[in-house]
Amino acid sequence: MTENVRIFIVEDERRIARFLQMELEHEGFITSTEANGRRAYERILQEQFDLVLLDLMLPDMDGLEICKSVRKLSDVPIIMLTAKDDIEDKVNGLDIGANDYLTKPFAIQELLARIRSVLRNHRPESDTPEGEILVVKDLVMYPARYEVKVNDEHVDLTKKEYMLLEYLLRNKRTVLTRDQILQKVWGYDYVGDTNVVDVYIRYLRAKIDEHFGQKYIYTLRGVGYAIKD
Ligand code: CA
Repeated sequence: MTENVRIFIVEDERRIARFLQMELEHEGFITSTEANGRRAYERILQEQFDLVLLDLMLPDMDGLEICKSVRKLSDVPIIMLTAKDDIEDKVNGLDIGANDYLTKPFAIQELLARIRSVLRNHRPESDTPEGEILVVKDLVMYPARYEVKVNDEHVDLTKKEYMLLEYLLRNKRTVLTRDQILQKVWGYDYVGDTNVVDVYIRYLRAKIDEHFGQKYIYTLRGVGYAIKD
């Protein structure tokens, strides 16, 4: 049952992450690792993992926060790994939707047994396919149904605004020039003013950054725009 099963190891201690990766791959699992909490959250939603091993204390976003946020959008199995034998963490972990938890240090055989048990019991919600999801901070785009939400609140965008936002999201953390944006969103044959890009960036900022009071779209003066966390 380990064939093609993808496990995401979220752990900021490199030594532990490497150990887990080695042991799990030895068992035939496919693994990916991530040390940063914020990035881990985004990757859990964007990449199709079969199970997540989630450390509790992480930089930028802790395991409880990640689990809580992921559960609003996905039922991917999560096993929390807590560093201390803290009963409150255990209760919290299960309260916020983790499938299981394990206290460090643990025997690898114990972890493997928990992983198999969680995988066995997990029934994917095949009747509600969300399809692909693009995420940056609290903003989520569902390309399959042309929908954008921030903090679970629907954002009403025009077609061009949506296309511009999707282009930025698909190139997250990359600065895109006005020319690149113009060609991608307005097309090669567009003959109007290049200021149209700045105008639409303003529209997006009004509906997203300003409306929700959080910065998403960054300007690199003289170069272009980027969306990032
Ligand atoms: Ca940690």
